[in-house]
Amino acid sequence: MWVFPFSQGAQTMLLAHRLLFTSIFLSPSSSSPSLKPQPLTLTFSNPTHAKPTRHVSPASKTTPIMEKDRSVLFVPPGVDPDEVTPDMVLPGSNIVIGPYAGDAKIKEVVFVKSSSRAKDCPKHDRPEFAILGRSNVGKSSLINALVKKKDVALTSKKPGKTKLINHFLVNKSWYFVDLPGYGFAKAPEAARMDWSAFTKGFFLNRDNLVAVLLLVDASVPPQRIDLDCANWLGRNNIPMTFVFTKCDKMKGGKGKRPDENLRDFKQFIAENYKQHPPWIMTSSVTGLGRDELLLHMSQLRNYWDQ
Ligand code: GDP
Repeated sequence: MWVFPFSQGAQTMLLAHRLLFTSIFLSPSSSSPSLKPQPLTLTFSNPTHAKPTRHVSPASKTTPIMEKDRSVLFVPPGVDPDEVTPDMVLPGSNIVIGPYAGDAKIKEVVFVKSSSRAKDCPKHDRPEFAILGRSNVGKSSLINALVKKKDVALTSKKPGKTKLINHFLVNKSWYFVDLPGYGFAKAPEAARMDWSAFTKGFFLNRDNLVAVLLLVDASVPPQRIDLDCANWLGRNNIPMTFVFTKCDKMKGGKGKRPDENLRDFKQFIAENYKQHPPWIMTSSVTGLGRDELLLHMSQLRNYWDQ
């Protein structure tokens, strides 16, 4: 069970957990990664319909995935990488599901508090997931879709609450943390990354932070600010899951389609991470990825919480 305050031994264990969940980040600086599109191993012809992540014949669904193909997957604790088979990979993601997955249902969500400083946040007494992304990325819609309520995330949209850290308690056992959106299109670079001055303390001081869900809009090409944010989290060993939003917009209009944007973003991941962080495709309109994301969160949380 969760104990607060942490003993030194418990803190060491938490650090070990955090390191285990942190995907090894390669980029030594925040210099621009190249975004040359290249074919990746996993392909998604029609993610809206949550098909298996690879085109496999039924017979090969239980055949272990070759090491080369496995290298782009997120293999959780409790799973032997050599034993990963295609049917263990969550549809529309690179996430392998292991023995810690379960109890993913959200039964109750209670707003706890809004904090203007990291030190004002609730005690580090429960595992928590922070949700972060550019303004307009679809954060409120995703939170509402996850908890299946229309007004939960609206707290953070009320005047005066947009710059606050909002804690929600889920099932009386873990926190969902809604962080301020970043990246107002016309603001200068320094101001756009100002979120870090505000939330930096939060990321660096929350021992109970299981993972950051970094939302990325799949309907537009990879944005510099999202890459900078991912780089910052990577450099600081903050475990993260890339959550691609608006994946229903597959028809596209002008410019690239979401699957092409995703391919470019995955190329960025491949170039910057020795071990790939988890990523998953979602849509708040169709419900794509909702249950899968909750299942993924459950395995991280249950492992952390044991
Ligand atoms: P936030 O500023 O990040 O909280 O973004 P919102 O949740 O308010 O969404 C911004 C806009 O994107 C709104 O017009 C939403 O209707 C739209 N949107 C959000 N999620 C989706 C999605 O999954 N699919 C589509 N097609 N539109 C979405």
